[in-house]
Amino acid sequence: MKWRRASAGQNPPDHEVAQSAADHLAQAIRVATVTPPAGPLSEADQATFDALRAMLEAAYSQVFDVATVETVGRAGLLMRIPGAVAERPVVLMAHQDVVPVPADWRAEGWEHAPFDGVIADGWVHGRGALDDKGALVVLLEALDALLAEGWRPARDLYVLLGADEEQHGASAVAAVDLLESRGVEPWLVLDEGGAVAVDAFPGLKAPMAVIGASEKGIATIELSVTADGGHASTPPRQSAPGILAAALVAVESHPFPGALHPLSIEMFETVAPHLRGPMRLALSRARSLSGVLVRLLPRLGPELAAMVRTTAAITMLEGSPAQNVLATRAVATVNCRIAVGSSVAKAVDHLTRVIADPRVAVSVVESSEPSPVSPTGEDERWQALVAAVGESYPDAVAVPYVMLAASDARHVARIAPAVYRFAPLRMDRAQRAAIHGPNERVAIESLGRGVAFYRALLTGDALGPPSR
Ligand SMILES: [Zn+2]
Repeated sequence: MKWRRASAGQNPPDHEVAQSAADHLAQAIRVATVTPPAGPLSEADQATFDALRAMLEAAYSQVFDVATVETVGRAGLLMRIPGAVAERPVVLMAHQDVVPVPADWRAEGWEHAPFDGVIADGWVHGRGALDDKGALVVLLEALDALLAEGWRPARDLYVLLGADEEQHGASAVAAVDLLESRGVEPWLVLDEGGAVAVDAFPGLKAPMAVIGASEKGIATIELSVTADGGHASTPPRQSAPGILAAALVAVESHPFPGALHPLSIEMFETVAPHLRGPMRLALSRARSLSGVLVRLLPRLGPELAAMVRTTAAITMLEGSPAQNVLATRAVATVNCRIAVGSSVAKAVDHLTRVIADPRVAVSVVESSEPSPVSPTGEDERWQALVAAVGESYPDAVAVPYVMLAASDARHVARIAPAVYRFAPLRMDRAQRAAIHGPNERVAIESLGRGVAFYRALLTGDALGPPSR
């Protein structure tokens, strides 16, 4: 048997288990399941997702033997492993799709070909190593080993593997619709999001296991100005692009009002005892000093800046189609990430107010509100996650946070009161920057710990028979 029956922290984790996860992850990376474009799957995309499924079925035969497997959306997989009871089920999520790499990936600086699944020097390299095939593999690795040992969940366990997370998550939405139609009310949901982050917090030496208890909303907002066109030889005093440019300057020079969400306060107060000096003092009193922190944190980097407010990023610009033609319409896209506690409507209000020019139309192209906040502190589900982190990464400090990006998890909040976002993989600064960029990679040692995390979570007391 690969695993010793371990209850207390596995430190260091079992070598064989980590290597098995690494081999399977390398195989999964080699199947380039790049998020398919919207609409029906092409034959080629269907074949690629079929190939990944075949790879997973071969690697995790116990899981596929025991589970009922349904296709959700275009290529999502919803698996149910029946527990002794159906009530208070658990849903563990990961996604199969990955973001594309440019055709000239060499120019982007990749050390190893992105879809070769190279294992070298203690790392697994390739697109998806962290986002999100690494988490997908360690989850199935843990589950497969447990089932092989004869373990069965106390209550129903669902594994949901989305196929288009990087593009609105239609397969996750389909799975949630299906679960809702069957009256399934998940007790605990865990998806990607946070990680065991090294060097994530100024002055913190210990790794920080950041577990998302909510996520920011997102709004694509279009600013547009229309004007009379004409020949570029006789320009008006103010052109559509000129008016738009003034609006964009106004947006960037008027950040959204800052506020410290209670989740961020909880995060700071949990981190504080592990810091030294003035930061320790300031953060241990985060609640009373929130006004000061809101002004201080943005100076410590863009991640901390994004924690305290709604952000607005100007992304796309469009003007005249020709060099000698005046633009009849100038358009800018502003990608807003909506702070938890705020709303899409408030973001539109703010932009309209700071632009203060009726010639600039502000319209929402698409949006989703910030997610509800899942319980933390003494809640049994939160404590189960913290305990599993303690077993797999004994040196890490587990803290709640508001996830800045968007994940499939936001779709599940509709049917589940406790949705968390965390992949049990260690990520340093360079690794975090490699997500959606070049040289994505994960340490084999961390994969072993990731397996230990899911194993501890699944076999922990909290996921035992429901007490009611
Ligand atoms: Zn992802």
